[in-house]
Amino acid sequence: MTNNKKTFSCNRRTWLGVMTAAFAGHSLSVQGQAESTGKELKASSAGRFFETDVLVCGGGPAGFAAATMSARQGAKTILAERYGRLGGMAVHARVIPLMGRVHSPFVTEVIKKVAGVRFDPNRPDLDFIDPEKLDLQYADFIYEAGGTILLHAWALDAEVSDNQIRAVKFLTKEGIVTIFAKQVIDATGDGDVAAQAGAAFEIGRKKDALVQPMSIMFSIGGLSRQAQFGGGEEDARRRMIGNETWETVVMRGQKQGELPPNVGVVRTYRMKRDGEASVNATQINYVSGLNVEDLTRAEIEGRKQAYQIVEFMRKNFPGYENAYISNMPAVVGVRESRRVLGKQFLVRKDLETGRCWENSVVRGATFLIDIHNPAGSGQAEGHAGKFVNQGAPARDKPYDIPVGCLIARDIDGLLMAGRCISGSHEASSSYRVHNICMAIGAAAGTLAGLAVTQRKKVVDVDIRQVQKVLFES
Ligand SMILES: Cc1cc2nc3c(=O)[nH]c(=O)nc-3n(C[C@H](O)[C@H](O)[C@H](O)COP(=O)(O)OP(=O)(O)OC[C@H]3O[C@@H](n4cnc5c(N)ncnc54)[C@H](O)[C@@H]3O)c2cc1C
Repeated sequence: MTNNKKTFSCNRRTWLGVMTAAFAGHSLSVQGQAESTGKELKASSAGRFFETDVLVCGGGPAGFAAATMSARQGAKTILAERYGRLGGMAVHARVIPLMGRVHSPFVTEVIKKVAGVRFDPNRPDLDFIDPEKLDLQYADFIYEAGGTILLHAWALDAEVSDNQIRAVKFLTKEGIVTIFAKQVIDATGDGDVAAQAGAAFEIGRKKDALVQPMSIMFSIGGLSRQAQFGGGEEDARRRMIGNETWETVVMRGQKQGELPPNVGVVRTYRMKRDGEASVNATQINYVSGLNVEDLTRAEIEGRKQAYQIVEFMRKNFPGYENAYISNMPAVVGVRESRRVLGKQFLVRKDLETGRCWENSVVRGATFLIDIHNPAGSGQAEGHAGKFVNQGAPARDKPYDIPVGCLIARDIDGLLMAGRCISGSHEASSSYRVHNICMAIGAAAGTLAGLAVTQRKKVVDVDIRQVQKVLFES
């Protein structure tokens, strides 16, 4: 086990108090905390139950990939998702450009099928999807592999005995449904199931436990042919509006109060039809995706910000004069919450140096160290003042993710997939993007599927077999 560096860790018993303090005071210094051991097996209350080999909780890019790859290994697989659609943030929060490059035949196979809505020649690094049908495309992958999908099933509690996760209870319209499984994969993004099982996790940056802000991403219509699309921070410095850069116009709007105080970057992306764009600009700071009052505030404040931003664009961006909101997301987007501690722990340096591992299950992952400022507008790094220099994210080198980042350190039978795997705040800001999460999910599903079909623990599965499926198929 390497790099198992401990920062702020807690389990669900300590979490509530810590986060209340962190978000009320906006800063907190916390020492390492005692960690959990797991929970006793409780008698399952009467009610419906299912039995399966592999249970995947959460149907985002990581969960759908995990379920598909598990089923492809011949394991009986159930995916349970709390909402009525698969796709995670891309569908529920309208996160439309798929980002991150990774060496994964599975991701390539999926992207070929789901992307190509319309290719933007200015952004060859992005894959565009149709959020109206992504959920159905993902369902096809799972069904074709022989897996089962349960929607409207919200993971509520986990049953653990002898340190092994045995079952997860779901809240459904018919009451509590229990799913017993030999392997459980937590792909909830928030690490809900791992926390319910008593696994240790970390939250936020080291110095104050703050997480990246939430955002309402929305779509607009009514743009004329003149409309330009401004991507990230660097793009905004190159793109001109008259004699000024897109960034200068936005920052003046921020300074003069035409934009919300924390909105210093307005990103727009081309969409499937002419005259449409996807907007990533709203920003709600000091909120936790695990707190019901914070989520409520973020939903309402974020949607109000969206209207203010559209008004600003109508006034300031040529081609946007008749812009209107054509689609609001179902839920606010949560960038960061629990990072569950695994047998290994990925850190920023691993990304910056492009570290490779013998036991890698994700290879060639590339994106940015993309930390949206937890305590203000723009990027967290290179932020020189309230309205000056929004900074730009650093680029990582193609890096690997070792298998130990997906295996829960404290609870047997539990794997993590997607943004809740074991890594630091900085490292997660890169691997949290859609395509890398999908590759992580494919790895977790392959490992779990092989483990149950070979009647082994995940740690006893020959990693070369896993790699063969992931990288050579
Ligand atoms: C505002 C915003 C903008 C972003 N921009 C981009 C971008 O432009 N490009 C990009 O590639 N990435 C972007 N990202 C990051 C990316 O969208 C996510 O990090 C990625 O979707 C994470 O994948 P995941 O499968 O781990 O989690 P998610 O996509 O969050 O999926 C988790 C799934 O689990 C379900 N779930 C959660 N809890 C439970 C439970 N208790 N029981 C059952 N089901 C549960 C959820 O409903 C969801 O379907 C953005 C994220 C946000 C929030």
